[in-house]
Amino acid sequence: MYYISENVVPALELCCLNISMTDLILQTCDTFTTVKWLARHGLIANKLVCRTCRHPMCLQARGSNRDGYCWACSKCGRTKALRHGSFFVHSGLKLIQILEILYLWSSERPQVEISKQTGVSPRCLLNWYNCIRDVCARYLTDNPVEMGGHDRTVEIDETKLIERTNRRGKYKPGQWVLGMVELDTNIIMMVPVDEIDAATILPVIAQYVRAGTRIVTNRCQDYNALPQQELTNYGYTFVAPEDSINSMHEIWDLCKAKFRALKTNDNNFSSHLQEFLWRRRIKDNFFGNILYWIRHYYDVFNLVTFDF
Ligand SMILES: [Zn+2]
Repeated sequence: MYYISENVVPALELCCLNISMTDLILQTCDTFTTVKWLARHGLIANKLVCRTCRHPMCLQARGSNRDGYCWACSKCGRTKALRHGSFFVHSGLKLIQILEILYLWSSERPQVEISKQTGVSPRCLLNWYNCIRDVCARYLTDNPVEMGGHDRTVEIDETKLIERTNRRGKYKPGQWVLGMVELDTNIIMMVPVDEIDAATILPVIAQYVRAGTRIVTNRCQDYNALPQQELTNYGYTFVAPEDSINSMHEIWDLCKAKFRALKTNDNNFSSHLQEFLWRRRIKDNFFGNILYWIRHYYDVFNLVTFDF
């Protein structure tokens, strides 16, 4: 069997991958070392078996190919793209460019700077960002938040994000978002909603907040005015804040600052919100963690065994 890299690092090691931009550039200084780096970190297949004749495939230099190499079967001559089955299959960019974009995205550098540094056009960068945010969205779907429960308190609040007036004075109404934060643990969830009346919000809360929770809200009278049967079904106690909704307001400030800097429009609002939530959940080392989740969702190992 032919292997690109002698070893592949265990997936969990990616979560604590601590690498500077300089080291990443040094470790991926040419096409082959980049290919080897990606195979060693489990981001492209490290071995492949020919689907036709079951013969192990080898790496073959291909000057005309964007990756510089492809998989080739020495028995039947069949070839396969190096990025076959991997996250990188979505893009026409060079592998090193994608790796740099992933690094700079993780560092939350401004898009203009990333575009200049990588030589990738802003439009192409945006497409690629959407692919990264899809990974964040899949993570959030597969790892749903559950908060609250008996003796637990969750603060809830609603705000409008991306509400603004443009240079010509035209008003954009923005998007209502329901925010929930569990006190003590600081677990958060934010969900775009069309209406903010208590009857609409209650089932949304129920998707994330366990029964029996004490819920602090500025609008507790609205919730307490709902039909008693409905409130009994959910088992929540709605109370007014002693002072104000502090924890959620701090998160809104962070979120609004981020959205202002991005100049986000309505089209990709949800995906930016998912990125914000992903970063809150992951906390640090975004580069290592995004690589971990890419590897998780683009399982190039199963691809090989399936082919066997
Ligand atoms: Zn073959």
